[in-house]
Amino acid sequence: MFDLSERMEKIPPYLFAEIDAMKKKKIQEGVKVIDLGVGDPDLPTPQHIVEAMKAAVEKVERQKYPSYEGMLSFRESAASFYKRRKGVKLDPEKEIVALIGSKEGIAHLPLAFVNDGDYVLVPEPGYPVYYSSTLLADGIPYEMPLKEENGFLPDLQSIPDDVARKAKIMFLNYPNNPTAAVATKEFIREAIDYCIDNRIILAHDAAYSEITFDGYTAPSFLEFDNAFEVTVEFNSLSKTYNMTGWRIGFACGNDEILSGLLKVKTNVDSGVFEAVQEAAIAAMDGPDSVIDRNCEIYRKRRDLLIDGLRSIGIKAKKPLATFYVWARVNGKSVDFVKNLIDKAGIVATPGIGFGKSGEGYVRFALTRDESTIKEAVERLNKFIT
Ligand SMILES: *Cc1c(COP(=O)(O)O)cnc(C)c1O
Repeated sequence: MFDLSERMEKIPPYLFAEIDAMKKKKIQEGVKVIDLGVGDPDLPTPQHIVEAMKAAVEKVERQKYPSYEGMLSFRESAASFYKRRKGVKLDPEKEIVALIGSKEGIAHLPLAFVNDGDYVLVPEPGYPVYYSSTLLADGIPYEMPLKEENGFLPDLQSIPDDVARKAKIMFLNYPNNPTAAVATKEFIREAIDYCIDNRIILAHDAAYSEITFDGYTAPSFLEFDNAFEVTVEFNSLSKTYNMTGWRIGFACGNDEILSGLLKVKTNVDSGVFEAVQEAAIAAMDGPDSVIDRNCEIYRKRRDLLIDGLRSIGIKAKKPLATFYVWARVNGKSVDFVKNLIDKAGIVATPGIGFGKSGEGYVRFALTRDESTIKEAVERLNKFIT
């Protein structure tokens, strides 16, 4: 009786529904399922952040409608976080906007800048929101394949001129979900220059900017000369501080882009609960040792899983960032995962779910403790042999 809008009809079906159903069934059968599918940290939010929220929630002035752009004190903390961690100077008044999680900002950006029939350049495989938010804004997603032989970086030179001319936004995401790849400085430079030349908004999703290993630090795109002309960077507290459920992040960079985003937000939401902003301030003000500790935990898990996968002949590069392992598998990724659930009770995410170039890969999330990952490796061993 109530037909969905044409734009909703264009949104692809949720590819993981079948996997979810298989997982449920296994659990009902009494199997102790190991879920390495979800990109949601198992570790708790650090205690001092929780305490800051508790204190803030009691204050009447924190219970009111927040401002649209976020408390100035929140934006100042975000600015000092960027200065300290990335060496980037941000004006808290004009170059930072608070978000209800970075997903919210990513999803709203095309509504601010995309007209019917405009292109948005989206990485593939990639976080599905770039594609779907483009469709919600009546834009046309142009997929940029991420191939292993290019280090999972898109080939910008292969984008046709007529697409480049009609493109409004390019989404990029490094460190990358799902491939766990990091961007070279040369590539970031090239992407910024490309967007300047073609007058495209460069929307960089930096959700994993602090989850790094082996001495690697992920650069902010805003570190690069002239980046502020075209760049908006989405940062999030979700992964950095184990705060996925709290819903807080921020957009920073070019003030004109942020104003457009804010204009959409002013008409659809009413900002972030100020008690949550207080918690975020406590997080971003430090100490940074909580981040280091988190990364060390993921590093140990990464090494365990990578060594385990390699010992049974599954090819996977040791990632320098993110809490994912992107592994090459034989055959179709969905079949591999179905088999894995059925025969080993392990859930992983088939690469095809992130886009067609994800076929032949499976994503494992390092969001389970070491003993669980060890058991997963043992089960994998039996599964393969
Ligand atoms: C987790 C994730 C996000 C969303 O983070 P929130 O701030 O919790 O909305 C954005 N982009 C990518 C690539 C992610 O993996």
